[in-house]
Amino acid sequence: MALLEVKDLVKHFPVTRGLFLGQNLGSVRAVDGVSFEVNAGETLSLVGESGCGKSTTGRVLLRLIEPTAGAVRFNGEDVFNLPKSELRRLRREMQIIFQDPYASLNPRMTVGEIIGEPLKIHGLAEGEAKRARVKELLEQVGLSAWHERRYPHEFSGGQRQRIGIARALAVEPKLIVCDEPVSALDVSVQAQVVNLLEDLQKRLRLSYLFIAHDLSVVKHVSDRIAVMYLGKIVELAPTRTLFAAPRHPYTQALLSAIPVPDPTAPRERLLLEGDVPSPINPPTGCRFHTRCPHARERCKAEEPTYETLEDGSHVACHFHREIPPVTPPAARATASANAYLGRLKAVYKRQASTPA
Ligand code: SF4
Repeated sequence: MALLEVKDLVKHFPVTRGLFLGQNLGSVRAVDGVSFEVNAGETLSLVGESGCGKSTTGRVLLRLIEPTAGAVRFNGEDVFNLPKSELRRLRREMQIIFQDPYASLNPRMTVGEIIGEPLKIHGLAEGEAKRARVKELLEQVGLSAWHERRYPHEFSGGQRQRIGIARALAVEPKLIVCDEPVSALDVSVQAQVVNLLEDLQKRLRLSYLFIAHDLSVVKHVSDRIAVMYLGKIVELAPTRTLFAAPRHPYTQALLSAIPVPDPTAPRERLLLEGDVPSPINPPTGCRFHTRCPHARERCKAEEPTYETLEDGSHVACHFHREIPPVTPPAARATASANAYLGRLKAVYKRQASTPA
């Protein structure tokens, strides 16, 4: 049994006009029938452009926002039908790390108070035992025990995110929703925080639902990746499969946008035309048809089903078997490295043959 099971999750936000007796103008269909599972000790990443519904999915399944429809089971328990009193117990097992390490910490509280707060709320430790646990948590995330007396503004972005991670770990959760945990950080700090999360996962056997907009970040942390577009998952596959042979045209476009560290390397960039359509009035049929380079008449009228393939991957595209494959970034990077080595060898050969 999976640790987390999400089935047909829907979250619509009503759009109204007028302060009191507001006129209903429709709804923002932020999440529109999303299903996936997270196994114990696994990292599943949810990836997509800004506004695709990935963060809303993370918050709804923790019941930070109430759902419109669908079901979520955690360890076999029905999360959406739990009474409020039971919800606190469940929150101990499902935690969240927020995107913005600047905004997610109370500036008036010391680091010791921030990390100690969940211990107090859940009745896990008091007094000296709490202080000792806070120090242990600080050291677990690579900070020092004496940092407990400091305030959040005295830390860098990466250190603040470590404080957020320590706060999430305080209650010994089984699952952590990592909501864009590194997008607000410098690239060099991103790698440190990602390494820390991986290290903690191995030591504490955590499961992560890792939310990000950058496929290159999630490549190194994910066991499987789900790609979202306009409130729906369009492809879900093991990381290696998704990077080696992306099937959905949207996944292909996202992968082709990953930079290759050689400016002379041949680029096979699939540029998507137009903006992401409004989630208030999404396109009919396949929601991606307005930007898809392979769209046909059928795509405008008929919504593709979420097909399970022979290798266990899932894809929602009528024509995925006919769409030509793209060269994945790893292969482009290898080809570019080989070309670079070839040029170097030619230079050395010329130098060796030139008389001194
Ligand atoms: Fe493109 Fe049609 Fe496939 Fe949608 S169903 S991704 S529009 S080819």
